[in-house]
Amino acid sequence: MTKKTATIAIHNGLNEDSQFGCVVPPIYLSSTYNFVGFDKPREHDYSRRGNPTRDIVQKTIAELEGGVGSVVTSSGMSAIHLICTAFLSPGDVIVAPHDCYGGSYRLFNSQHEKGAYRVIFVDQNNDEALKEALAQQPKIVFIETPSNPLLRITDIEKVSKLAHQQGAIVVADNTFMSPVLQKPLALGADIVVHSCTKYLNGHSDIVAGVVICQCRKQLEDLSWWANNIGVTSGAFDSYLLLRGIRTLIPRIRLAQDNAQALIQYLQTQPLVEKIYYPALEYHIGHHIAKKQQQGFGAMLSFELKGDITLIKTFLSQLTFFTLAESLGGVETLICHPATMTHAGMSEEARKTAGISSSLLRISVGIEDSQDLINDLRNAFDVATKR
Ligand SMILES: *Cc1c(COP(=O)(O)O)cnc(C)c1O
Repeated sequence: MTKKTATIAIHNGLNEDSQFGCVVPPIYLSSTYNFVGFDKPREHDYSRRGNPTRDIVQKTIAELEGGVGSVVTSSGMSAIHLICTAFLSPGDVIVAPHDCYGGSYRLFNSQHEKGAYRVIFVDQNNDEALKEALAQQPKIVFIETPSNPLLRITDIEKVSKLAHQQGAIVVADNTFMSPVLQKPLALGADIVVHSCTKYLNGHSDIVAGVVICQCRKQLEDLSWWANNIGVTSGAFDSYLLLRGIRTLIPRIRLAQDNAQALIQYLQTQPLVEKIYYPALEYHIGHHIAKKQQQGFGAMLSFELKGDITLIKTFLSQLTFFTLAESLGGVETLICHPATMTHAGMSEEARKTAGISSSLLRISVGIEDSQDLINDLRNAFDVATKR
């Protein structure tokens, strides 16, 4: 029977227990599995290599992204590190976006410095710079779209085509969209990676990652390396991740609707200087986003008119917007990139990347949108009066 996305998210793994007829799959915590007899192993022998709870969530995420299989890991970073470890040797080149997730930037840079592989950071929307980087015959081209925190868009189909002409493996970080809003494999990418810590789990209570691929040989290599270096996720986290995925689609829809309501409100606010959200006609990449995404998502950024005192006052008045890093949970989070997620960058580098000290990023949750708007209104009122 064919299954659409919503059915995959809900139905995978149900009713597979023959002993008790459990509807929901149990959590298999055992680290080891007995042999049927001498030299007769079962499907599972040790939970680092394979675990029935992890198997279900791996299969589910692979189906959601349209891949042949996946490996669920202990974090988004270990998922990215796994791909690099499996496919890059000393001297090999990875091309990555100059404005990629800070943790990815630090990983690629530190491995480059150690000589594990070479990284070239490039603005993938700059055709000349991209061409020059691709001329180095990279083994991997890493894409991340939309980017953080300015929601810059990269054309996955176009970059994949160019990268494939040079024989590169295309990896797309789909964390900001989830498979509900963007399917990189269908657009030409070979491998998709997620921080499951964000939308896939959606409840801000685990750290996990996943690598999904379309090619069985690559899946075999990734599974072998994941067991070899020991980055597979535990049974309990795998269970929580599966539980989170059950509501992925309604969560994404509600959060996206709320984001659109906030955008409409923010557009009327005199204290708001500039809004970054791919649905806006003037947003750079709006047309590409419209073409390759099934929605504009629930991440947005905006610049406030005013100095740091005004920003501090504004943030201190908010009740339903928690000042915290991370994203993709049911609760709304607000972040000041210059002092939080992007504090590791020099002021000069932040300026080049377009991240001003008056920029705020919101991960919109699924609270009542009117409550969120009232909260913002009050904070704007207090900030204006001071
Ligand atoms: C959070 C994040 C990561 C890293 O994932 P962790 O689960 O925190 O290790 C990678 N890429 C993007 C886009 C992220 O937002």
